[in-house]
Amino acid sequence: MLVLGIESSCDETGAAIVQDDGTVLSDVVQSQVDLHARYGGVVPELASRDHARNIDPVVREALARANLGLDAIDGIAVTNRPGLVGALLVGVQFAKGIAWARGLPLVGVDHLVGHLLAVFLRRRGETEPPPPEFPFVALLVSGGHTAIYHVEGPTAAQCHELGATRDDAAGEAFDKVAKLLGLGYPGGPIIDRLAARGDPTKFPQKAPMASVRSLEFSFSGIKSRMARHVSEHGVPRDEAELEGLCASFQRAVTDVLANKLVQAAQMTNVSRVVLGGGVAANRELRERVRSLARARGLECFVPPLASCTDNAAMIAYAGAARLCRGEKDGWDLTATSQTSLLRLTRKGRGAR
Ligand code: ATP
Ligand code: MG
Ligand code: FE
Repeated sequence: MLVLGIESSCDETGAAIVQDDGTVLSDVVQSQVDLHARYGGVVPELASRDHARNIDPVVREALARANLGLDAIDGIAVTNRPGLVGALLVGVQFAKGIAWARGLPLVGVDHLVGHLLAVFLRRRGETEPPPPEFPFVALLVSGGHTAIYHVEGPTAAQCHELGATRDDAAGEAFDKVAKLLGLGYPGGPIIDRLAARGDPTKFPQKAPMASVRSLEFSFSGIKSRMARHVSEHGVPRDEAELEGLCASFQRAVTDVLANKLVQAAQMTNVSRVVLGGGVAANRELRERVRSLARARGLECFVPPLASCTDNAAMIAYAGAARLCRGEKDGWDLTATSQTSLLRLTRKGRGAR
């Protein structure tokens, strides 16, 4: 089965064609980063307008790169939650238009399920190890979300939140700290690069809630401490000092993320750990998770960089999983800012 996936939840317009076994035939991402960079964050209305401008050429490009026409497509998958509602609506309405005109089944996909399943994508020219079997425990770290999930299968109902951040997402912390240091937007990749050359013991930091007894996170405290440091001492002029500051911040954040992921696997008796989301592109996090997993005898699955940050291939794959089960949505499919993933409570499933 070949699925056309469409993604427009935030500041990337994406379209991809993916086979239900995860083979990526094409994956086009048009980033709006330059559009929002001068504001230091995503401006919702500008994002919606840019999606509306770009969605048609992006979808055409995805078909062209796969060398296929719409007649070869078996279904349409579109991100319909969570995200900026105005941005999501552009993708949802465009997907409905194609599905209606072509008589194709349409499925809405939770963007977070896309991130959780990104590790199943097989891209041409990349020699990836085989994907994980279910169940696994996954750390989803992105610009808007940071949480650990127990994943029993590829549908939203099979992904259960074990713990999440109480305040900022990890990506948000990277972006805010970069802004504070005058480094530009988005901050994650810039801090990653500077941290690689810095001494992480220069300004030792500890992320709050570092105790592995809880699977919850908090990143607003470390961000405030960085802000205080900058207001007291100014942005370091010395290169080594700036690199050290970035390295110390990154060490604290990646340590707590990696430790709790491994802890979650042990608490739930699961032998596989998976990474997903934009912050999973972070070099130190990838290494920390790999080495901790190895030390604890866990299998570790880390997607290639292109699958970590926002893309439509992961949406197409998650949609294919629904379509293969015979599921589809109606023309009343709408966009919602909230995720559909539920928190696993002691009493059972179902709290949010
Ligand atoms: P969500 O998925 O929660 O709706 P989003 O789609 O905006 O949010 P993603 O595109 O998955 O988020 O991830 C973007 C985030 O990832 C940004 O905060 C960015 O700074 C961060 N990021 C990207 N690369 C890196 C990196 N190498 N190191 C750390 N953070 C990174
Ligand atoms: Mg983005
Ligand atoms: Fe995302």
